[in-house]
Amino acid sequence: MTPAGAPSSTRPPTGSAAGVTWRSLLDRARATTASAPAARWLVEEIAGLSASGLVAALDAPAPQPAIEQMDRALGRLADGEPLQHVLGRWGFYGLTLRCDARALIPRPETELLVELALAELDGRDPRARRALDLGTGSLAIAAALVVADEMVEVVAVDRSARALELAAENRELLAPAQRRRLELREGSWYGALFPAELGSYTLIAANPPYLAADEWAGLDPVVRDHDPYDALVAGPSGLEALTAVIAGAPDALGRPGALLVELAPAQAEDAERLARAAGAVEAAILADLAGRPRVLRARW
Ligand code: GLN
Repeated sequence: MTPAGAPSSTRPPTGSAAGVTWRSLLDRARATTASAPAARWLVEEIAGLSASGLVAALDAPAPQPAIEQMDRALGRLADGEPLQHVLGRWGFYGLTLRCDARALIPRPETELLVELALAELDGRDPRARRALDLGTGSLAIAAALVVADEMVEVVAVDRSARALELAAENRELLAPAQRRRLELREGSWYGALFPAELGSYTLIAANPPYLAADEWAGLDPVVRDHDPYDALVAGPSGLEALTAVIAGAPDALGRPGALLVELAPAQAEDAERLARAAGAVEAAILADLAGRPRVLRARW
């Protein structure tokens, strides 16, 4: 191998370390991702450096394995894989979670749901803070809750064994004291609860699938081809999961108790109506930062 920086008489074969600096890898990443932050995260990840560490190392030669890793990563991006899967981890509510095709990529909109959930828990008797995360996927909501609220105990449910595997890996990333307050269970919605637990929850949070089956084909391919179908599509109408989550809430919750569900803006009216029909004493739709109706908050 030609030592990095040494003059070379012939053009180095692709992937040779000759003259390849972190800066040139960053330029290549920028050209492929068309997003400066994404390119930077990718190079930081491969270099194993922080943002400032990478700036300091920009003109240093990149080692051959890093160049090959970058070739593979850029190839995956060029094939349409989401950056989150290529990086293998993604940020959610200040946490870094493992992220791959086993579960939905955590979305920034869902951070609103977490904020609202924490507000519901705040002020409740610390010894009786029990939350349920239905359809936990990567564990995003449940993990954010146990990290941000030192008292809450969370049961995180998913019917997908693959999602639960990823959720368990993300649970391992938490501190032991947080992990102890977070239980994973396989099951479909409230089917994962024991009869004795009914009426014991303070809070239910869910980001269920909310697309109708005929919306799936029209999704951006980066979503359609890489997020699990079952995490996106609820059924023929798109309201199936939302309906099940609302219908079971009054039995699972103690009083007072709250349900927070993320939804598609067009489902806001249906969600409010379903919550009232299920006996909610209060039902409101909260908007995201862009002003779109995003979350049902129902209280019993
Ligand atoms: N609860 C997970 C999240 O919010 C997964 C949601 C889903 O798969 N629909 O990211």
